[in-house]
Amino acid sequence: MARPLSPDALAIDPLVGEFDDRRTETAYLGQHLARTRTQLACTLLFCSLYFLGFFATDVAALGLVPETALLLGTRLLVAVTAGACAWLAYRHPITIGAARLAASVAEVVALACFMVIAVHRPDEFHWHAMSLAIMLLVIYLYIPNRLGYALAIAAASTAAFLLLVLAVADMRFPDMLTLGMLLALVNTFGALAARRYNLVAREEFRARVVLENAAQRDHLSGCYNRRYLHEHLLGAASPLLRDGQPVCVILCDIDHFKRINDTHGHAAGDAVLLAFASLLRTVARDGIDSVVRYGGEEFLVILPGTGLAAGTHLAEWLRGRFGNTPAYAGPDGVPIHTTASFGVASSSAGSLAGLIDAADKLMYAAKRNGRNRVESLALPMPGAQAAPLSRAA
Ligand code: GH3
Ligand code: MG
Ligand code: MG
Repeated sequence: MARPLSPDALAIDPLVGEFDDRRTETAYLGQHLARTRTQLACTLLFCSLYFLGFFATDVAALGLVPETALLLGTRLLVAVTAGACAWLAYRHPITIGAARLAASVAEVVALACFMVIAVHRPDEFHWHAMSLAIMLLVIYLYIPNRLGYALAIAAASTAAFLLLVLAVADMRFPDMLTLGMLLALVNTFGALAARRYNLVAREEFRARVVLENAAQRDHLSGCYNRRYLHEHLLGAASPLLRDGQPVCVILCDIDHFKRINDTHGHAAGDAVLLAFASLLRTVARDGIDSVVRYGGEEFLVILPGTGLAAGTHLAEWLRGRFGNTPAYAGPDGVPIHTTASFGVASSSAGSLAGLIDAADKLMYAAKRNGRNRVESLALPMPGAQAAPLSRAA
C-alpha cells in the first residue's frame, strides 16, 4: 500500500522550491513526466532551429570564409545534440534522471558552442551578452531541469563568458561593467523566477495530495477508507482478479474491543486501534497491498498475487505479534494486552466482493471457535468443489 505522505514528507525546501523528501519529489516529478518530456522536446527543438537560423548572422558578419564553415559546423553540432535529446525525450519512455541528463547535455553543448562562435566574432560582445542573457533565461525557465543544475550551468557559463570578454573583447571598462551587471541581473532573476515556479507547482501538488489523503484515508488509522475500497478496489477499473493471479484477503477484527473502551476509556481504545493499524501497514508492500479500515475495529488486508499459504502465514504472524505486544495508552503508558481474530480467503477468479464476504464469514468462524485464531479457505474455481475449511491456528 502506498503510504500516506506525512506532513514532514511534504515539506518544501524554500531555497530551491523542491520537496525535501526524495520520495515525494520523485512522486511529483513522476506525475509530471509526460508534460516534462513534451516541454523538453519542444524547447530543445525550437532552440536548435534558432541556433541554426542565427548562422545568417555569421555570414553577415564574416562573409563566406573558411571560418564561417567552422561556425556552421559548431551550430550543426548544437542542432544535432539538442535534436537528439529532444527526439529521445519525445519518442522514448524516459526516466526523470535521463530527462535531466538530456537537458544538461544539450545546455552545456549549446553554451560551449556559443562561446566558440563569440570568440570568432570578437567585435560583437555586446550582442553576444544579450544572446547569452536570453539563453540563460531559457535554461532557467523553459528547459525542465533541477534548479541546482540550471544554476550551476548558468553560473559557470556566465563566468566563462566574462573571462572571454577580458581575454578577447576590445571593450571599454564601463561597457564591461554594464555587461557584468546585466548578466548578474539575469542570473538572479532567472533563478528567482525558476524557484517561484517550482514553489507554486509543488504547493499545488501538496494541496492535491492532502485532499486526496483526506478523501481516501481514515483519519485515525491512516488506512484506506470504505470510499477508497469501493471506488478503487471494488470498482469496474480494478485490475484485481482479472488476470488469473491469486488474490488473498485477510479480514481481521480486534477481540473484545468494547471491553477495552469500557475499562480504559475511548482514548485507550483509539491507541489500541492505531497500534493494530500500524502493525498491518508495516507488513503491506508499498504500492501493491492495501489496508482498509473496514469497520470500527475491523481491517481488511488485500494482497494481490498472494496465495492462501502465504496469506495464512502472514495472518498467523500478525496474530502472534499483536497478541504478544501490548499497546501503550495514555500519558502514563498503561500497557493493554489484547488479541485479534483473522479470516483469510484467497482465489484466482470470481469477484473481490465475494472474497471479502468469504473472509468475513471465516473471521466470524474464528470468533466462534474461541478468538485469537486464523481461519482460512481457498475459494473454488468456478465449477470446482470448495476446499474444506482449514483451521490454521
Ligand atoms: P468481538 O470480540 O466479538 O469482536 O467483540 P468486540 O467487543 O470487539 O466487538 P463489538 O462489535 O461488540 O464492539 C466494537 C466496539 O468498537 C464498539 C465501538 O464502540 C468500538 N469502536 C468503533 N470504532 C471505534 C473508534 O474509532 N474508537 C474507539 N475507541 N472505539 C471504537
Ligand atoms: Mg471486535
Ligand atoms: Mg467488529
